[in-house]
Amino acid sequence: LAKEMGRNQFHFFDPGLDEYRRQRRNQLMELTRALENEEFELHFQPQIRVSDSKLVGLEALIRWNHPVRGQLTPGDFLPMLDNSHLEVPLGQWVVKEAIHQLNVWKTAGEDFAVSININAQHLMDRSFATYLESYLHSHAELDPGQITLEVLESTALEDTKRASNVLATCRSLGLKVALDDFGTGFSSLTYLRTLPVDLIKIDQTFVRNMLANAHDRAIVESVIFLAQRFSRPVLAEGVETAEHARALRDMGCQFLQGYGIARPIPARQVLDWARQWRHHSDCWLSGSGAGP
Ligand code: C2E
Ligand code: MG
Ligand code: MG
Ligand code: MG
Repeated sequence: LAKEMGRNQFHFFDPGLDEYRRQRRNQLMELTRALENEEFELHFQPQIRVSDSKLVGLEALIRWNHPVRGQLTPGDFLPMLDNSHLEVPLGQWVVKEAIHQLNVWKTAGEDFAVSININAQHLMDRSFATYLESYLHSHAELDPGQITLEVLESTALEDTKRASNVLATCRSLGLKVALDDFGTGFSSLTYLRTLPVDLIKIDQTFVRNMLANAHDRAIVESVIFLAQRFSRPVLAEGVETAEHARALRDMGCQFLQGYGIARPIPARQVLDWARQWRHHSDCWLSGSGAGP
C-alpha cells in the first residue's frame, strides 16, 4: 500500500516540479538581465600581514544591487546559479572587474594583491586557464603574482586530478592559489596533499569561537602547525576582535582577515581605507585593540 501511495504521491508532485522549473527559469532570466544591466558590484575585504600589520591584499566579494530588493549578498543569489549556464559568464565578469580594480590601485601607486573566489564549475570550464592566459597576455602591465585564486575544498570533489592540473597551469602563469574555508570539507587533508596551493585560509567558523571553545582553538592551532609542515602560509578568516588577532599571531598565523580589521568595502573606498589603515595600524596588534 505504501508503495502505491508513494507512486501516487510522485504523480501529485509533478505540478510542483513544473512550478520549480518555472521559478528557476525566471530566476535565471533575472540574473541574465542583472548581468546585462551591470547590477553586480564587487566589495573588497582587506587582508593584512601579521608581522608588520601591512595591508597586503583584498578579497573580492560579489554583491547584487537588486532594483527592488536592495543590496544582496552572495548567500542570497549564488545558489540560484548552481549548475546554470550563467556560472561562467558571471565568474568571468568577477575576474575582469577584480583585475580592473587591481589596476586602479596600481595606478594610484599601491601594490596590494587581489583575491578572487572561483567556483567549481568555472574552474572546471574548458576555457578557464586559456581565458586567463589570454587576459594576462593582453594586459602585460599586470603582475600575475598579485592575483590569488581562492578555491573551495569542494571544488576539487568531482575530479581532483583535473582540478590539480588546472591549478598547476594557473600557477605556471604566475598566479597564486589559496585553499578557501579550509577544514570544512570532508577530505581537507587529502586536498592539502593533492592540490597545488600557495596559501591556506582557515575557515571563519573555527576562528570565531576559538577564544571560548577549546576544541575550535585546537583545530586552529593544528591547521597552523600542519601548514607550517607543508611550508605554506596561513590566513585566518573571521578575525572579529584584536584579541583574536593577538592569539592568532601567537600561534604563528601569518595573515588575517575579518570584521575586526574591516568589513568588505565598496571599491571606491579602498584607497581611503588603505591610507587610514597606514596611520592607525601600528597600535592595532600591539595594544589598544580598536581598528581604524
Ligand atoms: P568566503 O570566500 O569564505 O568569504 C568570506 C565571507 O565571510 C564573506 O561573506 C565575508 O563578508 C565574511 N566575513 C569576513 N570576515 C568576517 C568576520 O569577521 N565575521 C563574519 N561573521 N563574517 C566575515 P560574503 O561576502 O557574504 O561571501 C560569502 C561567500 O560567497 C564567500 O565566502 C565566497 O565563497 C562566496 N563568494 C563571494 N563572492 C564571490 C564571487 O565573486 N564568486 C564566487 N564564486 N563566490 C563568491
Ligand atoms: Mg574566499
Ligand atoms: Mg572563506
Ligand atoms: Mg565561506
